[in-house]
Amino acid sequence: MLIKRNVLGFILGASREIHPKEFTGLLRGNSEIIEETLLIPGSIFGENFATIRSDMKPIDPSIIGSVHSHPGNSFTPSKADLRFFNKTGFAHLILKYPYKGIEDVAAYDNAGNRIELIIKE
Ligand SMILES: [Zn+2]
Repeated sequence: MLIKRNVLGFILGASREIHPKEFTGLLRGNSEIIEETLLIPGSIFGENFATIRSDMKPIDPSIIGSVHSHPGNSFTPSKADLRFFNKTGFAHLILKYPYKGIEDVAAYDNAGNRIELIIKE
């Protein structure tokens, strides 16, 4: 999966700014590239990711997955994360502290398998 450099910069910056709360958002793009981050209407920063209500998701076929930060130093998905991944899209990003660069970002498919993430130049 490719990610636009400005999208990567945005999610890293947002995660740093909101730390120690969780940053959450949705990803827009296509099967090859993550092109944009959407903040979820009605969601509150710091609310646990797993509590995002599915009826709050915008009806938009270009939504390919989700992004959220882990204020700890692990980007392993929780059981609640895996359940959410399974219901939404096919590309999910988890960022871990200290959110410095792509080494602090992990990408998963909707079954929770790690997938490669490459910056689109
Ligand atoms: Zn999580």
